Amino acid sequence: MTRPGPGPFPAALLRPDLVDFTGYSSARTSAVAAPARIWLNANESGLPSDIDPDGLTRRYPDPQPSALVEAFADLWATTPDRVVVGRGSDEMIELLVRSLCRPGGDGVVVTSPTFGMYAVSARLHGVPVVDVPQVDDELTWRVDVAGVRDAALANGARLVFLASPGNPTGAVVPLREIADLTEALKDQAVVVVDEAYGEFAAQRSAVTLLEEHPTLVVLRTLSKAHALAGLRVGLALAHPDLARVLRRVQAPYPLPVPVTTAALEALGQPALRATGRRVMETLRLRDQVGRRLRDLDGVRAVYASEANFLLLRCDDPDGLLARLVGAGIIVRDMRHLPGLPDALRITIGSTLEMAALERALDSFPASPSATASPAPTSSRPTSGEELS
Ligand SMILES: *Cc1c(COP(=O)(O)O)cnc(C)c1O
Repeated sequence: MTRPGPGPFPAALLRPDLVDFTGYSSARTSAVAAPARIWLNANESGLPSDIDPDGLTRRYPDPQPSALVEAFADLWATTPDRVVVGRGSDEMIELLVRSLCRPGGDGVVVTSPTFGMYAVSARLHGVPVVDVPQVDDELTWRVDVAGVRDAALANGARLVFLASPGNPTGAVVPLREIADLTEALKDQAVVVVDEAYGEFAAQRSAVTLLEEHPTLVVLRTLSKAHALAGLRVGLALAHPDLARVLRRVQAPYPLPVPVTTAALEALGQPALRATGRRVMETLRLRDQVGRRLRDLDGVRAVYASEANFLLLRCDDPDGLLARLVGAGIIVRDMRHLPGLPDALRITIGSTLEMAALERALDSFPASPSATASPAPTSSRPTSGEELS
């Protein structure tokens, strides 16, 4: 059987006013191919700084450092022309909104409760946000995929943002549903699957769907499982035609030279193996803490999580927050989100941090039904494919 080619990215989905836009032409992007020894085209200093005697950061960086782009392409078994790297997935969200939605027009679909940056980027660009709330079945959350499709079609949306695993829900959107939604919207909107927590999930990455679906985009980041949030490196994996547009829209030189050096090291085999071990340990701690929380009196729900955090509902969130703050522990108050008037989100930290959390919880009464509560199901990452 021969597989159909990916086909072009439908140009009708791009901002019409950007079709001929070439972006900023930097000294790096416009450099000539001829062999050159002396570079006097970018107004950089001819001599290195005292704080950088080897001159490693004397020159502007490559806007898309090829070694890093290739390393990400290898990690995701895809081609470099599908990779866009930048300042965290936050920048990728911004680039997608600006590339696909006309300022003040079109639309973006989100599924609350979800990551706040989708709506922030849309609002800053004047783009209407349509919310299709997720369905809460008390054990987990489910994206209303048919509702998302209908809302995108009815509102002229150009973008759908799905976080999978979701933040703060911890729930994944099944690959089959992602594929069907993307197919149903292919003449209308790009479907973005934000896999910031993908390393913690049991399900395969949606990257495996990219070849078949030109209008699908997957976001990944070094901020969570890779333990490098301060580095600010994230990426979009997209159809080559769309990737080209995103790079043109991106502000120049997104990645400082030391950041690229560190990111490359994080993608080497030793660091990837260590990341895999940290993920396994996080899953173990998550299930242990999850059981502990389910046993607490006044904790009404601890949702199944495929990420490195737990979302819970409790009778007295203020009491629990105060108790934890008393022990010097800060968790995330989620009560500002629609549908979550009683919810907290707890990140799974180190073994020591989780021991401190459990000690702080010891001062809480145990639920009378504690012994009857079922153990949470544990899930394992597909570590080989995801991390190495
Ligand atoms: C944390 C998080 C990100 C990470 O963004 P970066 O800019 O890469 O640090 C992206 N999406 C979701 C859903 C997140 O929770």
